[in-house]
Amino acid sequence: MAMVKDPVCGMEIDSDTAAGSSEYQGTTYYFCSEGCKHDFDTSPWKYVGSGAELKEAMSEPPPVMAPKPASGKKWWEFWK
Ligand SMILES: [Zn+2]
Repeated sequence: MAMVKDPVCGMEIDSDTAAGSSEYQGTTYYFCSEGCKHDFDTSPWKYVGSGAELKEAMSEPPPVMAPKPASGKKWWEFWK
């Protein structure tokens, strides 16, 4: 038995009496209710994002692969 923090609502709960648990990125999280577990399972990164790199990854748009003419050729010249 150990007191753990429900990452969804921030409540201190006993892992033995937790309503549910989920594993995310190698860590087990415990929840006070099924509702909290469901919220966590739906989008765990919202609650675990203590890692700054994770938040950055979420806030930044995906890198766009801009088409770049590699050799100054027009696109139709590549088909010759
Ligand atoms: Zn909760």
